[in-house]
Amino acid sequence: MSQTTHTEEQQEPAGSKKLAAVSVLKFGGTSVKSIARIQHVAEIVKERLKHGKVLVVVSAMGDTTDYLLKLAHQCSKTPDQRELDSLLSTGEHISITLLSMMLKTLDVSARSVTAYQLGIFTENVHNKARIIDIKTDNLAQAFETCDALVVAGFQGVTANGDITTLGRGGSDTTAVALAAAAGAKYCDIYTDVDGIYTSDPNKIPKARLLDRISYGEVVEMARLGAQVIHPRAVELARQYGVILRVRNTFKPDHQGTSIDGGEDMEIYRSISGVATDKDQACVTIMDVPDQPGIAARVVGGLAKKAIVVDMIMQAFHPTAGLNNITFTVASTDLPQTIKTLEELKTEMGAKAVHADEDIAKVSLVGAGMAGQPDIAARLFETLGTAKINIKMITSSEMKITCVVSRGQADKAAKLIHDAFELEKV
Ligand code: ADP
Ligand code: ASP
Ligand code: MG
Repeated sequence: MSQTTHTEEQQEPAGSKKLAAVSVLKFGGTSVKSIARIQHVAEIVKERLKHGKVLVVVSAMGDTTDYLLKLAHQCSKTPDQRELDSLLSTGEHISITLLSMMLKTLDVSARSVTAYQLGIFTENVHNKARIIDIKTDNLAQAFETCDALVVAGFQGVTANGDITTLGRGGSDTTAVALAAAAGAKYCDIYTDVDGIYTSDPNKIPKARLLDRISYGEVVEMARLGAQVIHPRAVELARQYGVILRVRNTFKPDHQGTSIDGGEDMEIYRSISGVATDKDQACVTIMDVPDQPGIAARVVGGLAKKAIVVDMIMQAFHPTAGLNNITFTVASTDLPQTIKTLEELKTEMGAKAVHADEDIAKVSLVGAGMAGQPDIAARLFETLGTAKINIKMITSSEMKITCVVSRGQADKAAKLIHDAFELEKV
């Protein structure tokens, strides 16, 4: 039985008495996309072994997950979710075996394990399962026979033995969950850029590298499209007090960005970045009766299918007794969202379901934005001057999100970055 269990749902103190200090390193798809890169990763792991045992989490090689998804969609427009997860998990299975083989050629005592073998238990949801339990004892036992334990990211297993996956980019979450289970202080996320920037450096070259950023700011940036890290990984790190370090695989000596509690962040930086998310769609259920409980039925119906909705709006309707409810969903959830709403439409007597796929979210994120109305004013003015129409707006303490036409999103992000001079933050 487990000595300590770790979950994405409840807070428990991190740490294990059985495991000696372990370094936790995660390498993303670009870092392991070829055999030459796997060799480079093996060398980084070997170097780290000088400080004790190493737990390495790896993603699938390069675009393997996209390729597997494409194959599945060639078999069926709506592939069976259980089989799809089982298929997608094979990408990570390939990487762990190759990295272990490579480590052995460097005389490292390495061993690869899948989530199934290690017991990374998740809820019984396919494509975006949350981790509910990792047995610390299993980890300690796995380390008895090796110095470098190579674990498949992104995968999970249900209590029934079905393979699940954690959602795109989910290997980061595997790494943080294992760091928490191992009681590690740090979790190093190795990727193809130097760390977290004020915006995607591949789109805005003058974006500035941040030495340090708070969990809260990164959660927002990641949720709003900065794919450099999986938002659930950051939430889990915050929950268990694991310090994340985002670093460049190709510059292993570079310090990267440290993500931690950072309570004093807003003192010296009110805005930390701009994020763009083009994998979004906007959905409206039109002319629903204006009655108590209607919004709950709409959002509840989608929640039952594990569809996350965002930017929910119910605005004034010119006809008394009717409402329009509008929200955004991830593009991948759009077909299921429309199907669910069409069923509800009939049940509730609504008029129509309308989807707009030509959207993207552009968001300004910062811990010190609250109570500064000039920030929103300057943001809207920047887009207005450039004749970029804003389709929807939401704001909270730490962010302002504008929905714009997808083709204008990159331009909008760049203009906002310039307007707030984020290269100087
Ligand atoms: P990995 O394969 O290592 O998981 P990802 O492709 O998931 O890598 O994430 C790294 C990419 O995230 C970078 O190449 C960069 O283009 C993108 N990115 C988006 N926003 C940011 C940001 N604010 N800071 C750094 N990188 C970002
Ligand atoms: N291989 C998975 C993906 O491409 C998980 C990951 O890379 O983190 O989304
Ligand atoms: Mg990633």
